[in-house]
Amino acid sequence: MIFMSQHNQTKTSSLTARLCGLALVLSAFTAMASAASAPDASAVVSAADSLARLKAGNARFVAERAENPHRSVTRRGELIGGQAPYAIVVSCADSRIPPELVFDEGLGDLFVIRVAGNVLNDQIIGSIEYAVANLGSRLVVVLGHENCGAVTAARETVAAGSKAPGHIQSILEAIRPAVEATRGKGLADTAQANVRLAVEALKQSKPILQEQVAKGSVMVVGANYLLANGKVEFGPVAAVK
Ligand SMILES: [Zn+2]
Repeated sequence: MIFMSQHNQTKTSSLTARLCGLALVLSAFTAMASAASAPDASAVVSAADSLARLKAGNARFVAERAENPHRSVTRRGELIGGQAPYAIVVSCADSRIPPELVFDEGLGDLFVIRVAGNVLNDQIIGSIEYAVANLGSRLVVVLGHENCGAVTAARETVAAGSKAPGHIQSILEAIRPAVEATRGKGLADTAQANVRLAVEALKQSKPILQEQVAKGSVMVVGANYLLANGKVEFGPVAAVK
């Protein structure tokens, strides 16, 4: 009985803590959203339509038929009150793959998060959650690329049992699971495993992303950028609503 009582008390206080936590999260998001202004429902683009739009933009970029949209003074003015980026792109910080260029988009179109090796951490996942919860973004793309310096360095340090200087090692540690999953294979395999692991981590990220993915309202997809021809190859895509 004593155990039950303590157990229930623990459950109650745990629930209270969780509710308080949720309230804090919601109020924090509300504060951020008031600065950004949430889009109305008509501005929200479905995951499937978002993916089609990214593919169309990349096709223009590949063919040297880029339209360079949404870069006008008018567009800037339209965005003063808020934003409704239709897709979230987590890409490597590599200077050769700026997402707005390779998808032929402009101001206010993409919620871009860039970090060497397109790795994840709490701040990056929080940024994605923010865009999903407040800006109406329904598609998350993890964008890796050929000849990634971060992935190369991760492979080399793991093989040599060495460490990179400074904070660089923290990036390589984040890539280490992909390196270990592709021992004996090539750089491209490790880069793609690194993307795949990030996609899976985001799909299972609690509470916001996992719930949205399970409902079918948010899609997370991996992609690989080819340096020579500018093409973005998307990974297998599950049926989306
Ligand atoms: Zn890279």
